[in-house]
Amino acid sequence: MSADNQTVTLCAEAQAFLSREQHGLFIDGEFVAAESGKAINTVNPSNGEVLARLAAGDKADVDQAVKAARRAFEGPWSTWSPYQRQELLFRLHQVLDQRFEELVQIESMDMGAPIARLRNTKPALLKMLLFFAAQAANIKGETLMNGIPEQVATMSLKAPVGVVGGIIPWNGPLNSQFWVLGAVLATGCTVVLKPAEDASLSVLRVAEILHEAGVPAGVVNVVTGYGADAGHALASHPGVDRIAFTGSTQTGRSIIQASTVNIKKLQLELGGKSADILFKDANLEKAVPGAAMGVFANSGQICFAGTRVLVQRSLVDEFSERLMGFMDTLRVGRSMESQSNMGPIISQRQLDSVMSYIKIGQEEGAKLLCGGKRLGGDLENGYFVEPTVFTNVNNQMRIAREEIFGPVLSILPFEDEEEALAIANDSDYGLGGAVWTQDISKALRVVNGVKTGTMWVNCYGYIDPLVGFGGTKMSGYGAKGSAAHLDTYLYSKTVYIEL
Ligand code: NAD
Repeated sequence: MSADNQTVTLCAEAQAFLSREQHGLFIDGEFVAAESGKAINTVNPSNGEVLARLAAGDKADVDQAVKAARRAFEGPWSTWSPYQRQELLFRLHQVLDQRFEELVQIESMDMGAPIARLRNTKPALLKMLLFFAAQAANIKGETLMNGIPEQVATMSLKAPVGVVGGIIPWNGPLNSQFWVLGAVLATGCTVVLKPAEDASLSVLRVAEILHEAGVPAGVVNVVTGYGADAGHALASHPGVDRIAFTGSTQTGRSIIQASTVNIKKLQLELGGKSADILFKDANLEKAVPGAAMGVFANSGQICFAGTRVLVQRSLVDEFSERLMGFMDTLRVGRSMESQSNMGPIISQRQLDSVMSYIKIGQEEGAKLLCGGKRLGGDLENGYFVEPTVFTNVNNQMRIAREEIFGPVLSILPFEDEEEALAIANDSDYGLGGAVWTQDISKALRVVNGVKTGTMWVNCYGYIDPLVGFGGTKMSGYGAKGSAAHLDTYLYSKTVYIEL
């Protein structure tokens, strides 16, 4: 390791947390063991070693957590004024500002994102808390005109939906839990979070920190465990009013089915296969790194990764050459090494899946431009894959149709705008996408033509809570961010008052 690439030393708080013998479920303000006594090993993907033991919660534990959340929802929490909830969110903003380093260290060890990348997410996380704090005191109904001949005043009020089940994936739990927690705390709901079995630690630590900072017992609960056990139990529990789910389309489908038991409200943020479209007049100084990091950030484990890079045919050679140049700047390494900008894949299972797609791509006739191998040497115990680029890809190949969720970029050539739109829209998914051109009219035509929840023009990956993002088609429904986000944690009550 070079002198400038240091392994970050764990701070005392992160070290103390990680050295706990076993992590319990967080229910009603305290850690408790799973009723079954079962546990799950969670592994550091940078070295394949067991990092911690998690309680393997199941139906019985979910039931306890939902009951605690219900008691809290009906209890003193329900009398908190919007200003009290806003003040709490401002306080949490301060606390997380101070505790951020500890949390990113835990997250980096647990899910393998490079520490430098995670540290850079601090402003985004803090901004999210400010956004939800502002929203807490901005919940409003309407006075409504009516056509009733008698003297009747009419209005609508907003009220919290109740107990929320938050089911989140492993690819960025520190951030993704706050899309749920922020809305829950702003609206006066309560929550049972079910993090992914491969990366639960930052969620457990956040729950504890929030409680210490004044979130009442039972308002935020965490049940760790497998999706088929704890996850399914939460999605099908009759005491849960709403599910906020982020994860794969396949699991999303089973959550829809489970939700029918009591007609739960759903918000589903699912998978993607986003098209990143580069025209020959694109500014390549920006477009090449933009398109590359649209895929390789977080080792490709981002739902809106622009994995289908559509390049105008006359630009393919120059783009490919410049891309290879950019890829030399990527530094794949252990997550806690200060200079890594690409970490490992989350798990052996996910690594196997990514490697199998690389094999499929070659068998389908795509040309491997670079990468394609698992990294060995001093990284052999971790789950590292070389950043990989396929060229000569067509949109019928499985590597262009299925979500790989790894560092695999496919270049698909196109002739003109019409063909670019046809390829972009020939997908089951509709999550993200981008267009790179200096022609604003063309950019807007493409923005209008691509059927997707979010489009970026001459950039990739901005997400802002004030603006929000969401999906269409099989990428799910329900906004994240924007005023619409909070609205889905509330229900509307219409009121008729005879005067
Ligand atoms: P996953 O669907 O396997 O798991 C997500 C969560 O659901 C985990 O907590 C898991 O334990 C739980 N789960 C699994 N089976 C369940 C079941 N039957 N009932 C209830 N819960 C269950 O997804 P993953 O592999 O953890 O994450 C990767 C996927 O998430 C990718 O498809 C990615 O695109 C998607 N994702 C989407 C967004 C978005 O905002 N659209 C963001 C991040 C990740």
